[in-house]
Amino acid sequence: MKISEIYSQKKRSLSFEIFPPKKDSELKNIDATLEVLCQLKPDFISVTFGAGGSSNCNRTIELAKKIKYEYQVEPVVHLTCLTYNKKEIDAFSEVLTKEGIENILALRGDRNPDIPEKNDFKHAFQLMEYLGKKGDFCMAGACYPECHPESESRVSEIQHLKYKQDAGAKVLLSQLFFDNGLFFRFVEDCRIGGLTVPIIPGIMPVINAAQIKRMVTMCGASFPERFRKIIRKFEDNKEALFDAGMSYALSQIIDLLVSDIDGIHLYTMNNPAVAGKICEGIRNII
Ligand code: FAD
Repeated sequence: MKISEIYSQKKRSLSFEIFPPKKDSELKNIDATLEVLCQLKPDFISVTFGAGGSSNCNRTIELAKKIKYEYQVEPVVHLTCLTYNKKEIDAFSEVLTKEGIENILALRGDRNPDIPEKNDFKHAFQLMEYLGKKGDFCMAGACYPECHPESESRVSEIQHLKYKQDAGAKVLLSQLFFDNGLFFRFVEDCRIGGLTVPIIPGIMPVINAAQIKRMVTMCGASFPERFRKIIRKFEDNKEALFDAGMSYALSQIIDLLVSDIDGIHLYTMNNPAVAGKICEGIRNII
């Protein structure tokens, strides 16, 4: 099923993001995670894609197939393009078609000095235009409520998102954020800029100190004072940080749901306990 059908039926989506285990031997362990996640009946599960090399792609596709055929949940395969040429993208698209994978989150990918970039695709919208001609895929794109780190301005960022919509993106999945006010303003700006596709907020429950450090260095999301206070108070108390981080994410999600957004995309970090607790907390709301 193409995930655009969820939104054309005016339904709200609940979805999870997971990543393929690094080693093939760990692929077995993912079953324990998938069993819990799939019991929560998400509308789709998206599977991330590591930078460079076909083995990354294979792991993503293997996991997507597992989700689709063993767990009967719709997968969305992430696919980056900066380090691939048209021929390589053709090969991915042929495998996806053969395996019956219909949904792709088409991405540029982060720049990595260790992996040479190729010339065929500079931006995600070009990958979407290309894939649109190659197969019958439903395409999603990424968006950034606090702007992409390379963005020149808010206006150009939204123009570039419009290119994604024009290239066939049926839905945008957002980068994680901790301040709902920023997301609401972003959606409003997108609507003014002519974007009509569903814009799904990405939420990551932050439940341990290592994760917080990674957030600070990597994703550039701003931390509201309410969130900082939690970190300050509980950074040395594992259990308290877990409880407070879960409650923070839940309150973010409930605020989004009562504001009539199109869905919730949960960054699960492959932790089924986290997804389970969130779903339990919104069972009667979503
Ligand atoms: P683009 O849409 O190409 O945008 C990148 C920058 O280029 C932006 O600043 C944009 O404004 C600008 N731009 C776009 N079009 C133009 C134009 N025509 N002219 C000038 N500038 C332009 N990365 C992975 O490697 N694997 C994953 O699985 C993965 N999953 C992700 C899932 C989500 C939901 C999100 C939000 C991000 C994910 N990423 C992943 C990270 C993503 O690859 C990076 O953020 C990357 O730097 C940008 O990807 P993009 O698809 O948004 O690129």
